[in-house]
Amino acid sequence: MMRARLRGSWIGATVTGALVVLLLAGCAAEAPETTSPPTVSEAPAATQDPEPTEPPAPAFDRTAHSIDDPMSIWVVSNKLRPLTPMDFAPTDLSMPVGLENEFGQPLREPAARAAEALFAAAGEAGVPVRIISAYRDYGTQVGLYDSYVARDGQAAADTYSARPGHSEHQTGLVIDLDDHGACYLQACFGETPTGVWLAEHAADYGFIVRYPAGKEDVTGFMPEPWHFRYVGPELAAEMRATGVSTLEEFFDLPPAPGYAG
Ligand SMILES: [Zn+2]
Repeated sequence: MMRARLRGSWIGATVTGALVVLLLAGCAAEAPETTSPPTVSEAPAATQDPEPTEPPAPAFDRTAHSIDDPMSIWVVSNKLRPLTPMDFAPTDLSMPVGLENEFGQPLREPAARAAEALFAAAGEAGVPVRIISAYRDYGTQVGLYDSYVARDGQAAADTYSARPGHSEHQTGLVIDLDDHGACYLQACFGETPTGVWLAEHAADYGFIVRYPAGKEDVTGFMPEPWHFRYVGPELAAEMRATGVSTLEEFFDLPPAPGYAG
């Protein structure tokens, strides 16, 4: 019995392997000349789906966008990766239309349109939400950071405010959100109905919680359930599907718990 079942699985896997090779041969630059023997772990999948009608989904392309170019929707900015140049300013700033926006700050074009869609969905779900911070230019961040250092000292300020040139807000891809409640820029925002709804649905519109709880040593920041970073729906979906919650881990970058100097 066992031997017969194994042989059946082996044949199924071989047929599947041949089909995959045929399907790939049309688009791959170099089609493999030989098939490798099926492994035991491949056999169950072949048994469940002996006649695939669609080619396998292509692997997620982690190089589709730059993580260094400050105009890339995947740019990774953290305490070890300043924006280049430090005083970078995006060229496609756009005001989100029809959204409550405390200080009237713009976003980059794709993030602005995505924020409009996110807010429309929140409205349909009956979830109150407003923008309390969006694009901040280099000069604004200089002023903010300096005021925090003067008030709390540099060590404390570095735990909650990015140094100029290191702030994601300077990319124009970030919104800080609020519900008009008591948890304005506080960790408890994550437990409000709005915070819970956003954590669940923001990825559908291309936004991720950039500084999740438990990842302080990776991102260098305390949890910020109000800070949503636009990375596009494809990357947001891939991060959710793979369970990787930080850009540093997704792109195999070193953790950035503090500044280099
Ligand atoms: Zn923020």
